[in-house]
Amino acid sequence: MNPQNPVFIPGPTNMPEAVRLACHMPTMDHRSPAFADILHPCLDGVRHVLKSESAEIFIFPSTGTGGWEAALSNTLSPGDTVLAARNGVFSHRWIDMCQRHGLDVQVVEVPWGRGIDVAAYEEALRADTGHSIKAVLATHNETATGVKSDIAGVRRALDAAGHPALLLVDGVSSIGSMDFRFDEWGVDVAVTGSQKGFMLPAGLAILGISEKAVRAGATATLPRTYFDTADMSKGYAANAFPYTPPVGLMNGLKMSCGLLLDEGLENVFARHHRMAEGVRRAVDAWGLELCAETPEVYSDSVSAIRTPAGFDATDIVTVAARDYDMAFGVGLGEVAGKVFRIGHLGALTDAMMLSGLGVAEMVMVDLGLDVTLGSGVAAAQDYYRHGNAQQKAAAE
Ligand SMILES: *Cc1c(COP(=O)(O)O)cnc(C)c1O
Repeated sequence: MNPQNPVFIPGPTNMPEAVRLACHMPTMDHRSPAFADILHPCLDGVRHVLKSESAEIFIFPSTGTGGWEAALSNTLSPGDTVLAARNGVFSHRWIDMCQRHGLDVQVVEVPWGRGIDVAAYEEALRADTGHSIKAVLATHNETATGVKSDIAGVRRALDAAGHPALLLVDGVSSIGSMDFRFDEWGVDVAVTGSQKGFMLPAGLAILGISEKAVRAGATATLPRTYFDTADMSKGYAANAFPYTPPVGLMNGLKMSCGLLLDEGLENVFARHHRMAEGVRRAVDAWGLELCAETPEVYSDSVSAIRTPAGFDATDIVTVAARDYDMAFGVGLGEVAGKVFRIGHLGALTDAMMLSGLGVAEMVMVDLGLDVTLGSGVAAAQDYYRHGNAQQKAAAE
């Protein structure tokens, strides 16, 4: 891979130079007061990015997967029932983790390419009159299929059923790039990681936890030590961790929160929408289709693009890397070989997106697909020209 080229995988994402430099710092004593100047801006910054006033923020040296585990083990007890939808590899893995933790998962199967079936959730919650379901799991953005789900709708389903279950949301590939409203949606636990919207290397699991979830944690008995939020809270109160914090990554997180908040969250979301829409116009011009079935579920952080039957979509990723030093995402699980993915989240601009679309187009022509050179790029250019001017005008 040529490091001059941006990556178009849905995480890890490209790093802004300021974030990379912020991570690159000399060793410091993490028990010195100087660490407080890194820790507290990170906690406050993440809370703002989640659009929350009061969520407790936790940062663990881990990845999104560790964040899932922290979400479960701090709120639930062995044998508890949870309700979850499976519509791609990431929701599938979280369900698998629940099962391995001895939870009883009520799975709502959803065709890959569709969002969470909110009506099926409401039905399951209404049927659970004894309130044995303790948590509802929702993957906000299925990174495998490029499908966004309606978290506000899941909250409405819980409220309509008058059900007290906690709402645990995987926002790993949405938070920091797509609108996420912790307070407004009544989210109890939000999970993300450092290497997607936050534009950092992998290495941090980042969680927001509601007061209600903290109370549930007081009696939850799943085993936890490394991921115990109560231990972490005590550490934070003393400007420290219960163990050694990853200081450089956290200094990077402080910077990336600053960049996101300086750009303005709504501008960040609009930029992601614009980049994504350019990619969608290109896909349309290529005569291809998204895995996401309908516009209301289109993800603004990743597009999974179906290739014609009989063609191995993974070849696109292989040839792009081999011949053009450019990284795209392969299809995962049920859609392996059937889709390739273009990640369009993090530190990306219209100009960078055009380079990715240009290479994807060359690779498809090289592989004999019926795609015309320049067709997708032109469609995206046409959209970016107008979108960019409008957005700049709106910002002034
Ligand atoms: C990337 C991702 C994860 C897993 O995160 P890791 O950091 O790889 O452990 C979980 N959920 C979603 C939706 C993701 O995109």
